[in-house]
Amino acid sequence: MGNATGITRRQAITAAGGAVLAASVASLPGMTAGARAGARVDVVGAGLAGLACAARLVAAGVDVRIWEARDRLGGRTLTDLNLVPGAWVECGGEFIDAGHSAMRRLCADLGISLQDLQQLDIPGTSRDLVAGRVHRGAWASGPDARLANRAARDLRAVGTTRLGRMSAAAWLARAITGWPSSAFARYGAALVRGEYGVEPLALSAEWLVNDLAGDAGADEHADGAERYRIDGGTVRLVTSLERSIGAGRITRGARLVAVTVSGGRASLAIDGPGGLRTEATDRVVITLPPRVLADVDMRRSGVPRDVVRSIQAIGMGTNAKLIIPFDDPAWESRGWNGDGTSDTALGSTWQATMGQRADGVALTTLVGGLPGVRIPGPDHGPATAASVAERLALVGRVAPGAQDSARSGAVVHAWARDRFARGSYSAARPGQDSTWPDFGRPYGLVHFAGEHTDEDYSGFMEGAVRSGQRAAQQVLARL
Ligand SMILES: Cc1cc2nc3c(=O)[nH]c(=O)nc-3n(C[C@H](O)[C@H](O)[C@H](O)COP(=O)(O)OP(=O)(O)OC[C@H]3O[C@@H](n4cnc5c(N)ncnc54)[C@H](O)[C@@H]3O)c2cc1C
Repeated sequence: MGNATGITRRQAITAAGGAVLAASVASLPGMTAGARAGARVDVVGAGLAGLACAARLVAAGVDVRIWEARDRLGGRTLTDLNLVPGAWVECGGEFIDAGHSAMRRLCADLGISLQDLQQLDIPGTSRDLVAGRVHRGAWASGPDARLANRAARDLRAVGTTRLGRMSAAAWLARAITGWPSSAFARYGAALVRGEYGVEPLALSAEWLVNDLAGDAGADEHADGAERYRIDGGTVRLVTSLERSIGAGRITRGARLVAVTVSGGRASLAIDGPGGLRTEATDRVVITLPPRVLADVDMRRSGVPRDVVRSIQAIGMGTNAKLIIPFDDPAWESRGWNGDGTSDTALGSTWQATMGQRADGVALTTLVGGLPGVRIPGPDHGPATAASVAERLALVGRVAPGAQDSARSGAVVHAWARDRFARGSYSAARPGQDSTWPDFGRPYGLVHFAGEHTDEDYSGFMEGAVRSGQRAAQQVLARL
């Protein structure tokens, strides 16, 4: 099952896909600034999808307004610049695959450099604490390769329709001897929880099998999975996009509560700042995470009810990061590079600050599924002393003594508890792929964007950016 921080979502499809053009913020072919002057478009949500969409529209001369419920931009990307002095630490979206061309291009166009993690020389190897034992290095690579081959075979023999109806747990039970209690089975379940954010029972087997089949015959990381991070943090991309859009077009603390379409115009009911207001617009792009849409009255929006319902029903991961600051990476001198997967509270781990020069380091622990829901503490804020102590004891089992250089101030980011996200990222439930709405088209004056609306890269920042750019193209074609 793949790489140190988890198997990659939708890789197999990704390789074949990519229908949406990844053009830069300002350079859409054949588009002249001012061409759509006079037209007004409102974008709801200032995560990467909303910002990428708005940047395109502004570049095309459209009068754009963005409404964002939080008092910050970036949505499910969030960079902590305070945990370790001088370092950036990602609390949400973090890694960029080599194949994530829209993200890479957007960063390049905005002059934002990427940190190439493959170029970093981190001492030590990965260690997985599974079934009560520490397993070193590539102990799982043999069974991993066999599982990938089985996935490639089943994709052909069983077919995507039947796999789509099956849960990942049901498929893994057939494919892994000793499921669910053998060490490899427990490792596999922990990877699914970390990577897809859901319990294996709640994941469509088709998603898992597709991804694994893409790994068949490939070396670890040969496909460039999780190769890059944004140098300085995702906050740099967010602030650059804000600058290219124009801060005056963006209103924070403004929550969409209803959409009404009549007489060829849309009107948005927005709560705050300063009370409820109504905004009239030509078109609206809604980038809210699926579950959050339930809080918006869409009954008079012109979007069919079954479409709204199926968006709200999209399966969502419950990933949570608990990030611990340390004086130094003491685990490295004990032979552990910080990477690992565990069936304990540690989940997936990695060094959050690798390659950075800062006064200290940080170790990220990521869980999903039930552990992601049950993790103690607030949505975003200080981790509880008990949950930090539990993880440090586990770090001590993987690299004895390394826990002693931990600092106070660990933080938790439990995205399932976040009011404006209600989950980490989308992951199809068994039987769900066939009911995913068609986002390749608008519904009247309403367009949808957001990672969950991208067919090939859903779940990723790449999906968010592509979906925003796709929605902008759809809007421009209709203005
Ligand atoms: C823990 C974690 C780890 C991740 N790791 C990776 C990774 O390594 N690589 C990767 O590519 N991706 C990763 N992701 C996924 C990635 O972060 C998301 O796919 C992406 O950021 C989603 O962007 P979006 O614009 O679709 O949604 P969002 O960022 O959620 O944007 C939607 C916006 O709408 C706002 N909003 C909500 N309700 C309202 C309302 N009623 N009115 C107005 N505004 C509203 C929200 O506040 C938010 O700002 C991770 C996510 C999490 C949580």
